[in-house]
Amino acid sequence: MWTTDDSSRLYGLDDWGCGYFSINDEGNLEVHPGRDRKRSADLIEVIGEVARKSVRFPVLFRFPQIIEDRLTGIDQAFRSSIEELGYQGGYRLVFPVKVNPHRAVIRQAVEGGKVGLEVGTKAEMLVALSMDLDPDALVVCNGYKDDRYLKLAMVSRRSVVVIDLFEELSSVLRCSEEMGIRPRLGLRVRLFSKGVRSKFGLSTTEILKAIEILSKNEMLDRLEMLHFHLGSQIADIRNVKDAVNEAARIYAKVRKTVDLRYFDVGGGLSIDYDGSRTTSPSSTNYSLKEYTNDVVYTIQRVCGEEGVPCPDIISESGRAIVAYHSFLVFKIIGEKNFSFGDVRSRGDGSIQVEALRFAYDKINAENRIEYYHDALHYQDELFDSFNLGNIGLEEKAEGENLFWNVCRKASRLAEEDGDESREFQDLKKLLCKKYIGDFSLFRSAPDIWGVHQIFPTIPLHRLDERPTERGTIADITCDSDGEIASFAGENVGYLPLHALKKDEDYYLGTFLLGAYQDALGSFHNLLGRVNEVHVLVDEKGWCISKVIEGHRCEDVLRVFDYHPASWCGLQGKAEMEDLQKALEGYPYFDDGHQK
Ligand SMILES: *Cc1c(COP(=O)(O)O)cnc(C)c1O
Repeated sequence: MWTTDDSSRLYGLDDWGCGYFSINDEGNLEVHPGRDRKRSADLIEVIGEVARKSVRFPVLFRFPQIIEDRLTGIDQAFRSSIEELGYQGGYRLVFPVKVNPHRAVIRQAVEGGKVGLEVGTKAEMLVALSMDLDPDALVVCNGYKDDRYLKLAMVSRRSVVVIDLFEELSSVLRCSEEMGIRPRLGLRVRLFSKGVRSKFGLSTTEILKAIEILSKNEMLDRLEMLHFHLGSQIADIRNVKDAVNEAARIYAKVRKTVDLRYFDVGGGLSIDYDGSRTTSPSSTNYSLKEYTNDVVYTIQRVCGEEGVPCPDIISESGRAIVAYHSFLVFKIIGEKNFSFGDVRSRGDGSIQVEALRFAYDKINAENRIEYYHDALHYQDELFDSFNLGNIGLEEKAEGENLFWNVCRKASRLAEEDGDESREFQDLKKLLCKKYIGDFSLFRSAPDIWGVHQIFPTIPLHRLDERPTERGTIADITCDSDGEIASFAGENVGYLPLHALKKDEDYYLGTFLLGAYQDALGSFHNLLGRVNEVHVLVDEKGWCISKVIEGHRCEDVLRVFDYHPASWCGLQGKAEMEDLQKALEGYPYFDDGHQK
């Protein structure tokens, strides 16, 4: 008997889900924003409610309480490391706006009052200025800064202007003089440890020169922070340790002459997207507690050796805070399969066709490898023969049909035999179905395309049923890269799936989309932003707290400079009505069931 535990294992739920997801007795996926069973939302119930509200799929779900839980978790991990090690300094978190600039996300992040923001552009600076931040919260200003950015930064007493490049120093001093404001300052250091991918930062010579210049301008007392950033998703803890060690050394040397207060370790804290707990790019080989222990311990050790006071630690973890809170739910709208026909018994085909028919008839557990290889050979010959003009379309079709039927038999026999060889893994992949998902990978999970990242994708229901199919998930763009073909859990190259039913929608979810995907998503094939639903959960149940409508066709077209007048050539009234409906409609697939 297949149980929900089997599904949980198969899809690696506990390996990547961090306690936020589980399967209930109905075989539906549940979300637990507090990582406990006291608060849970059955996703199929939520989906039912969303459909009743006539919100169309695909839908991006946000569970803002997961952000809260992550913030608390990271804060507590740092605080407990500080306490356990007897570290003589504090800790604060600033959330990097670029990781998810959505207003609801930023508001959730800064709501408790303790968390500040990290910004890297003028527009992000404007985001920070729009938020009702705690008077003590910091705004760390990074990135390329023109005068307008600098002036925005300097008006806020929370801002620490980080000199990211040596060349910035003169404009900082100039703007400061023009405005009559002495800004709080930081220095970004360029590190040389392995695994650091930053394009910003001052070299050692530049740091010394900057300190000299600041001193001459009587601004050295404003320098309060040393900053570095390793790059995002640093999968190997050794790279974190090396970088913190190098930067802490620089901090300690500078601290001997400058009264620094903050040591900002940037981002990089990674997420185990595929659940493998390795140093592969979609995974990570360390836990949150290991990270905070290593950061705190390394700074403490270096400062102790150098005989300087320990700084307050700042971290700019973005991914680790928001990755879990959102996921995409979409419907499967069809499947693409090799259309196997039945094998007809004939005996008058070409040599290749009859050889394939022989392999199909006679393949068994003993000869399966040999006959499978024969089939590969005759399939090649069949193509050659067709390309030379020796056989017709019907003959080619029959040969291909036989070939795929041999493959299917060979695969089944290999599976019964427990064959784990590479050859039969590849064959399994070859025989996979393609399920068509109503979404755009380029819009909703662009890092799958951009950096080949894995995001867990799983069915949201029927998880008490053994999945009988295997497939990859193609999106509705006309781009061959628009396909999810790598998965978390046991089966990396294909996803175990349930057979589609005629009268029931099949919903899948792609998870851990909360970091970077919202802002990176693009308009490929003119598919716009998807509808968004925010869900809150408490002990009594769940509720939809907000619905944000996605782009309609009209909105998307406007982005590319089309205007209603563009279609005035269409004359007939019926045509105009259809046109109007299409313009006002959702750009995704309309299966006619939804209003
Ligand atoms: C992008 C960025 C971050 C966020 O990094 P994560 O790996 O998402 O935590 C932090 N600091 C700076 C300066 C950044 O540019």
